[in-house]
Amino acid sequence: MAYSEETYIRAPIVVVLGHVDAGKTTLLDKIRGTAVAKREPGTMTQHIGASFLPWKALEEISGPLLERIRVEIKIPGFLVIDTPGHEAFSNLRSRGGSIADIAILVVDVQKGLEPQTFESIEILRSKRVPFVVAVNKIDKIPGWRSNPNRPFIESIKSQDEAVALKLEELLSYIIEQFKSIGFRADRYDRIKDFTKIVALVPVSALTGEGLPDLLLVLAGLSQRFLIKRLVARVAPARGVVLELKEEIGLGTTATVIVYDGVLRKGDLTVVGGLEKPVVTRIRLLLMPKPLDEMRSPEDRFLEVERVYAAAGVKIVADGLEASVPGAPLVVLSREEELNKILRDVQEEIQTTRFQRDIAGVIVKADTLGTLEALIGYLKKNNVPVRLADVGPVVKRDIVEAAFVKSLDPPLAAVLAFNVKVLPESREEAAQKGIPIFAERIIYRLVENYLKWYSEQRELEKKKIFEKITPPVVVQILPGYVFRRRNPIIVGVRVVAGRLRPGVRLVTRDGREVGDVMQIREHDRVLEVAEEGSEVAISIRSKAIVGRQVDEGDYLYSDVPLDEINLLLEKYSNDMTENEKEYLRRLLKFKLKLASEIEFP
Ligand code: GDP
Repeated sequence: MAYSEETYIRAPIVVVLGHVDAGKTTLLDKIRGTAVAKREPGTMTQHIGASFLPWKALEEISGPLLERIRVEIKIPGFLVIDTPGHEAFSNLRSRGGSIADIAILVVDVQKGLEPQTFESIEILRSKRVPFVVAVNKIDKIPGWRSNPNRPFIESIKSQDEAVALKLEELLSYIIEQFKSIGFRADRYDRIKDFTKIVALVPVSALTGEGLPDLLLVLAGLSQRFLIKRLVARVAPARGVVLELKEEIGLGTTATVIVYDGVLRKGDLTVVGGLEKPVVTRIRLLLMPKPLDEMRSPEDRFLEVERVYAAAGVKIVADGLEASVPGAPLVVLSREEELNKILRDVQEEIQTTRFQRDIAGVIVKADTLGTLEALIGYLKKNNVPVRLADVGPVVKRDIVEAAFVKSLDPPLAAVLAFNVKVLPESREEAAQKGIPIFAERIIYRLVENYLKWYSEQRELEKKKIFEKITPPVVVQILPGYVFRRRNPIIVGVRVVAGRLRPGVRLVTRDGREVGDVMQIREHDRVLEVAEEGSEVAISIRSKAIVGRQVDEGDYLYSDVPLDEINLLLEKYSNDMTENEKEYLRRLLKFKLKLASEIEFP
């Protein structure tokens, strides 16, 4: 078949995201069930890695609603990615964005937005993918009367007032939550401008209530705001590898989502690979065989000659084992293009896998998509990355982290997402004191690391603060001299800093008074007197009150120059304004003193 100048509107690629247990899988099953139940002869509803929901099926289930809304439908249906969650979504990557056109964010009506919901929103926002919120499990609201598969706006009419009010209350909470992260949201049937307001569609994935509304809102949004993206060409295909899978007798096969063009058996393609791009010819294109045509469990696939975007298809070709999920696939139409395409594909992968000569964490993930998502998340949290790669945690990763430890210990860590940690790496890590964080949820991985990081920073700080002279200024309170000579006992007000036993105090002109022995407040012995407090202190001292020091005098801790600089530069956030002010004045004083020393 020859390519042509022709273009057509393809089905939008839809992903489902949300917190665990919100009902993603149930919703997908419902959508798939609808697709299969309404399958028309000759249409392929099951793809590989995705399901196609043809518009005809939609029309049938949303009939009554469609009459009311009267939108003219131009899209052929939806291609819904079968695997929910943002790992699959992450792999639908394209240069800086996503090949997913629109997302359904599933939220449990009674729980509202949960940690992974926020994470999903962040990821969608960063990839600029619009989304509709399926506010799920409305059937669980006490007293709800189920109307299976009916539109929500009809079902709501048959509910008691108290039940409807309860739903409103739950929705307001969700709307408030959206507001707190800078989004306006509202029940979909109250929205005029869908570009500004996030649509909330109450549904039950279990009963199918609200599904017509959800799909119509998706269709409406896709047509109104995404139509340019949905123009596909009858040209060499472009796609992305969603998954690699070993199939008996076929070797490593790839699930590919085709988002533009037509992919044909025999096409020469460039597929992104970890070491270098794979140039390979497509031996077979496989789609699932409809259930009623399957003769045995092995007889799962149907060979096809070509697929048009948008489609999910399994490809069989040599060399795919060197590819990686999240990698692009580009069909080569002319030999002359090869070098440019190779370069593009390689470059795209190299921006995600990298090594830099900086102090930063080591990141390993199972796919390019999750690696990219992880790096994005770390970046948002201001965590520098030294090495990012796909694959198991190997010894070299630990060696890199150990080097970072010599530069900045809290950054010496390995973050491993969904990958193996080889035994020798674990050994090496234990030996070198490098923590390996391994998790199956991205945000939790980063969270765990960040928790450790701040603990390390605190420890580091504590150690430093133990060593250095704390900045302290106290004033001897007039009328509160209890003992004039060793040990001096006086009442003081802590003007700046925190006073602890052991601090050496000097006079304004730098003469030593002595070391603080004990701090008391009434009958209690204190370990520390906070800024602003008034306490009695004893000082081991050679000075005598009334001679070298007097009532009303200020006494100071003598912080050395290098410590002043360290405190002001690195720990400015940990000090009070008074402490900083004292250190700045002391610094000026010391520098002035130093400048007055003349050399012959
Ligand atoms: P996922 O982790 O987001 O994929 O959530 P699941 O689809 O596995 O659903 C989690 C649980 O919630 C399962 O026990 C589902 O049966 C249940 N569930 C999902 N949707 C609904 C719904 O609309 N109504 C009710 N009552 N239960 C639901």
